[in-house]
Amino acid sequence: MFQFKKIKEEKNTKARLGEITTDHGVIETPIFMPVGTKATVKTMKVDELKDLKAQIILANTYHLFLRPGTEIIKEAGGLHRFMNWDGPILTDSGGFQVFSLSKIRKITEEGVEFRSHIDGSKKFLSPEKSMEIQHILGSDIMMCFDECAPYPSSYDYIKNSSERTSRWAKRCKDYHGDREGQALFGIVQGGMYKDLRKQSAEDLVAMDFPGYAVGGLSVGEPLSLMKEILDYTTDFLPKDKPRYLMGVGTPDYLFEAVERGIDMADCVLPTRIARNGTLFTSRGRLVIKNAKYKRDFNPPDSECSCEVCQNYSRAYIRHLFNADEILGLRLATIHNLHFLIQLMEDIRASIREDRFLEFKDDFYQKYGYNKDRED
Ligand SMILES: [Zn+2]
Repeated sequence: MFQFKKIKEEKNTKARLGEITTDHGVIETPIFMPVGTKATVKTMKVDELKDLKAQIILANTYHLFLRPGTEIIKEAGGLHRFMNWDGPILTDSGGFQVFSLSKIRKITEEGVEFRSHIDGSKKFLSPEKSMEIQHILGSDIMMCFDECAPYPSSYDYIKNSSERTSRWAKRCKDYHGDREGQALFGIVQGGMYKDLRKQSAEDLVAMDFPGYAVGGLSVGEPLSLMKEILDYTTDFLPKDKPRYLMGVGTPDYLFEAVERGIDMADCVLPTRIARNGTLFTSRGRLVIKNAKYKRDFNPPDSECSCEVCQNYSRAYIRHLFNADEILGLRLATIHNLHFLIQLMEDIRASIREDRFLEFKDDFYQKYGYNKDRED
């Protein structure tokens, strides 16, 4: 089953509070979804993710298609059983990685021919193939096969690619049919061009998907442009369906997305920067390897309630990183995931009480970002 219940709209913004029900559990929105690219959120056991109150995780179709391959996951009884995660899973379509990771690709109306970034072997993905793989993975939420065009791209390029994405979405929907238990989301493209965003949204809404993603944002454009295009795009999406902004996972982008009516977001960034020794804190980012933390026996973030901040010091975690100890990567990952999951919980509370903007201002003031930061 798949159901979205909108609980309330915040009084002063487009922020919404909701609940998504899937066969594998309920997801409170707005939500940040940790990314388990290759069927693992790097360094984390599933019981640790549960302890962190991760409500849904994401896995990448492209990576799992190449390795271990769909036959093995089919034999295991699907992705939930293969990785021992019994909560909801969202899979992407493979499109983004085909366009960003693989070499020698040929895009035709039929699909995309590319070479595996692992062994150079020739592969092919199409709307139908992406659906077939995601059916085998058994994810609760699946995505239509799309092209996420690079930024900047010309109007003509985006127009062609965005129109093809709409045609591909129709083929995905036809292949998927009325299959139970797996909800298929459409992906709005259109780059930074408003008329193309509108057209893309209207094409997809006419196909009546149970949810919609906004793709092709946070791809290197300035934050102010992201906010403008997102703000414009969400107005064309139905209010009673969940909206997912792909590839966003820093506190500032999450605030800006939620403010513009986004319910779900994901990004590898929090776990990736953790493994490089960068921690989110209520006072901004902290680079743990810095010499100034050598004798700093305070927790990473004195306001954080995570297990790491209750038990370990900056000096100790810095030592682990400098000594190449695996525990350092794990502690930093646990803290960063907790930080974003807790932030979303606090954001939900602020929407419930119609004080989202006050909460956002307070957060920014401490975090050290000014609202119109460009990066
Ligand atoms: Zn912490």
